[in-house]
Amino acid sequence: MNAPVKSLTGLDLRTEIDRLRKERNAVILAHYYQEPEIQDLADFVGDSLDLSRKAAATDADVIAFCGVRFMAEVAKILSPEKTVILPDMAAGCSLEDSCPPEQFAKFRAAHPDHIAITYINCSAAVKAHSDIIVTSSSAEQILAQLPMDQKIIFAPDKNLGAYFNRKTGRDMLLWPGACIVHEAFSETELLKLKAQYPGAPVAAHPECPAFILDHADQVGSTRAILEFALASPAETIIVATEPHIIHQMEKAAPHKHFIGAPGADGNCNCNMCPYMALNTMEKLYIALRDLEPRIELDEGLRAAAKRPLDRMLEMAAGTVGKGDVGKTKVTGD
Ligand code: SF4
Repeated sequence: MNAPVKSLTGLDLRTEIDRLRKERNAVILAHYYQEPEIQDLADFVGDSLDLSRKAAATDADVIAFCGVRFMAEVAKILSPEKTVILPDMAAGCSLEDSCPPEQFAKFRAAHPDHIAITYINCSAAVKAHSDIIVTSSSAEQILAQLPMDQKIIFAPDKNLGAYFNRKTGRDMLLWPGACIVHEAFSETELLKLKAQYPGAPVAAHPECPAFILDHADQVGSTRAILEFALASPAETIIVATEPHIIHQMEKAAPHKHFIGAPGADGNCNCNMCPYMALNTMEKLYIALRDLEPRIELDEGLRAAAKRPLDRMLEMAAGTVGKGDVGKTKVTGD
């Protein structure tokens, strides 16, 4: 049994959050990159695709989204009638920031013969300018449904786009964005770690640069990394993504040794997402108590952003064929 997490005038936050969750008919969704206490009390922990599906399917009145802002926006886009709260509205994303909507709209306009496949880590306004949204776990399946001669802009993550170009043999035009967390891994430090633990496989997220992925035995979404780590016969596994995912690995396989891949000086916290870290138990409690801060979206923007998200959910379920993908009409910004 975990010890009570107390603060804000000595409240037992876990008990209080539980009480408010029932009172509000709320569901708590948490990303694998959240702190362990939040993962442990969430109704569901998952990657972006899992969380999108849960947000679309829930019958709760309130979605308390423990992740970053674009993820909570996705919940609101898919479930506009729900109240969606985010413990800290400042929980942004460096990848989202690397793709301003106005510049993306101009880039699209300059390539009228391309469709835009956009990673879910972007603002609602960029989604509204996209044809299909993908997550790291759905991208390959979705790309496989498009003709090989289809011209594609892939945004905003250049590392993820380059990885899928290599994997699928496509030549997608890449928007030059990146995630500060996954860019922080050091090849030199990773090689030192591999020498220290010979035979330990490396599982890496495709947001990492190619110089890290080249040393990986498994490349995949956070969920795929988790599944690989648990299924691998290896006792020691090196994990190259945000290290809070190791919490789920240690819970499921306490006998194994999971090591986070190091950042530049081998010992920094630069591979921890500073945006995810803004959400705390105290802020989650306050958000459930006050039903603030809330995600609110202009209806035109929400509807425009929903179309490419619906395409993702349909294509990830295999219900859309090769000929069904046309361009999204952009109606909002
Ligand atoms: S880990 Fe990177 S991509 Fe994920 S939320 Fe943090 S900054 Fe954004």
